[in-house]
Amino acid sequence: SLHALDLAHVVHQQTDLDAHAREGALLIARGEGVHVWDTEGNRYIEAMAGLWCASLGFSERRLAEAAYRQLLELPYYHTFFQKGHEPSVRLAEKLTAIAPRGLNHVLFQCSGSEANDAAIKLIWYYNNLVGRPQKKKLIGRIRGYHGNTVAAASVSGQPHMHADFDLPYGGRFLHLSNPHYYRAHEPGETEEAFSARMAAELEALIEREGGETIAAMFAEPVQGGGGAITPPRGYFELIQPILKKHDIMLVADEVICGFGRTGNLWGSETYRLEPDILTCAKQLSASYQPISATLISDRIHAALIEGSRKNGTFGHGFTYGAHPVACAVALETLKIYEERDILGHVRRVSPAFLEGLGRFRDHPLVGDVRGIGLIAGVEVMADKARRTPFPPERKAGLVVQKACQDNGLIVRAIGDRIAFTPPLIITEEEIAAMCEAFGRGLDAAW
Ligand code: PLP
Repeated sequence: SLHALDLAHVVHQQTDLDAHAREGALLIARGEGVHVWDTEGNRYIEAMAGLWCASLGFSERRLAEAAYRQLLELPYYHTFFQKGHEPSVRLAEKLTAIAPRGLNHVLFQCSGSEANDAAIKLIWYYNNLVGRPQKKKLIGRIRGYHGNTVAAASVSGQPHMHADFDLPYGGRFLHLSNPHYYRAHEPGETEEAFSARMAAELEALIEREGGETIAAMFAEPVQGGGGAITPPRGYFELIQPILKKHDIMLVADEVICGFGRTGNLWGSETYRLEPDILTCAKQLSASYQPISATLISDRIHAALIEGSRKNGTFGHGFTYGAHPVACAVALETLKIYEERDILGHVRRVSPAFLEGLGRFRDHPLVGDVRGIGLIAGVEVMADKARRTPFPPERKAGLVVQKACQDNGLIVRAIGDRIAFTPPLIITEEEIAAMCEAFGRGLDAAW
């Protein structure tokens, strides 16, 4: 059977492989709108949009047709050796027009990890070219997630991605605490006071390491893989001036937040970030094709040109970077977002989404619910009054995730936080059905 072949040959990614070997996987066969069907014919509301990415759901024909048209016209070309092609030019023009101010140049890759990896390489390269080779350390945050390549995983703060992988974590890669107010605030501490404590930690880190050794800080506007964690009030307002004071770049990782997830085009807009570099992927093409982008400023771009005067060829690039089919699909995606006013739609349905999930605050298993736009996290707690988590061996989050699956709902447990990031096209009726299924799942887990 397909399941037996899967067990025999597919190494699943980001999966408990021991559990997979015993239990197998849910194999998805097809999708329509916000729903997917497994190989046994069971239907699920896909409340994670796959991996926070299928923004237009699972059956957008216009994207399939855009890919087909481009495949017939020019199925492959690259941007190496002073060559190029129209879809990459058009997409770069569009992206820089809608990007935060000053980000006028784009490198294309296939994944969010590569976008962040490219950012890291460019930051190091830039600092060498402008004559400050000692300014190389990078700041990430515990439970921050920026991808899987060696460098992107190192700037990430995900313990399971570091254990036994021998990444160069530590050394050039520094980490701040996770600004997760609900879990980490002291009794009686306000959100603002908590943010001030987080900012003081950044200042102490810079003091300890020396600002002249630190090149950049990476931050997701809303943390995704860390647990769908919105920043506490005042956090970025305090963090940004500290970075500016020490000439430390801010890299906004918009791989999840970009293209409407928080109710604005960029999470940077929602939280008033002024990034020096912005990375995006996923919803850039509604994930119908793998593509990511690293947007950089004129200042960094000028240094790259200077670098070629010194070193010759800009020694960076991927065979499938700026793939024409992926660019064509991304362009069509951005067109659909505008034509259908997807941002307006997210803003209109967001209250139903946040209030619908917010009602679970009364459930005995739920300690907190937080979100913005169409991203939210639900905290599953053993004793909500005392903010006591379940012991890790209970795997409470996974128990809830499985109970939801049994009730026709795909969500993601991140530890004991249940993340929701449905396709951006979800309707209020589908949100109501999502919440109903979640309620059944929670009750079954309880
Ligand atoms: N950055 C963020 C914020 C992400 O959430 C992810 C993936 O979930 C990545 C980077 C890595 O993207 P990819 O899996 O496309 O390499």
